[in-house]
Formats: sequence, C-alpha cells, structure tokens
Amino acid sequence: MKIFSLFLAVILFSSCSLNQKSINRSFNRSLYVANYLNFAFGYNAKADFPKIYQAVFASLNEIPDDVLEKVTNTRHPVLFTVNITTGIARWANSSEVNLAINSEHVFQNGFYLIKLADELENTSDTEAIEGIVLHELAHNYLDHLKKQKFSCDMEREANREVKKWGFEEKFLKAKKMFGSKERGDSPCHDQTATSLP
Ligand SMILES: [Zn+2]
Repeated sequence: MKIFSLFLAVILFSSCSLNQKSINRSFNRSLYVANYLNFAFGYNAKADFPKIYQAVFASLNEIPDDVLEKVTNTRHPVLFTVNITTGIARWANSSEVNLAINSEHVFQNGFYLIKLADELENTSDTEAIEGIVLHELAHNYLDHLKKQKFSCDMEREANREVKKWGFEEKFLKAKKMFGSKERGDSPCHDQTATSLP
C-alpha cells in the first residue's frame, strides 16, 4: 500500500507541474493536497493532530487556484509543523520532511514554515483553526516575511486577503477564538482591529 501511495505521489507530482501558469481544473485537488501534505506536513500529522491536519487540508483545498499554486510550489514550498508545548517533547522535538517526490528543484528558493501550536487541537471548531491557517497562508501569498520590517499594516492586509478569498466567516471565528483580547497579547492590538498572530 505504501509503495502504491508513493507511486501515486510520483505520478501526481510529475504529471501536474507545480510551476505551470494555472492549475488544470480537471485534476483531483483533494488527492493533490493530500499528497502535498505527506511531503509538507509529514505522514504522521493526520493521526497525531487530526483537527489541525483537517484545518490545513481544508484550507489548501479551498483557497483560490493561484494561491494554491504559489503555496505548494516545491521550489519555495509552505511547510507545516506543530509546536509541542506540553510533556517532555516541549524541550525539543523534530519534524520529518519526506522528499518522496520529483525533487530536482525542491527548496531551490528556500521554504516557508508555518508553526501551529498543539493547543489548537483542543479547539472544537476546526473552521476557527482554518481561519488561523488561512491568515498565515495570506502572509506567504503577500510575501510579508520577505519584507525587512514587520508592520501592523501587514496583519490587516493579511486579514483583508483572507476575506477577499471568501473566508470571512472562518476569519471571524478565528478572530473570536484566537485574536488578541488585551493589550500585550499582540503588538497590533487596538480598539478597532483585533489582530491574529
Ligand atoms: Zn499575522
């Protein structure tokens, strides 16, 4: 079964160029995302952090095509990992990046790492987690981390982008559940715009 999955992954990644101008709408997006996450989130993420995995999966499955194309471009891919904050693993833990794909140009231009807290797994509504993931994907899409200086405008711009993609409801759930509640929570906390991480 594992060999079959691997074969499928190779076929998928070689038949569906990640660098083409637009993604062919006839391709199986769910399968593409599942295989991408085997690479970018690791084989165990689905079993170890089912809600976080589900939120990441749903986010990639639902974002606009050009955003999916950018964030899954293996030359500069978005990778996901879970920050473990409890138990002995809080001192140190590792993530495996599986390169069982057509890897000639993988990481050619670096990578972008989204670190999600293990506490998110305690959230009852995965759509709120999705709101967080979408916000982080928006930072990547807008190349915010390539800029020299952090600004609160970037936070607002990322939030606007998530809404532009059509996820206002998920954004609001994330804002309600994870947004800064008091001064000191976030450098961007103010009365008018509750910020996300
Ligand atoms: Zn942010």
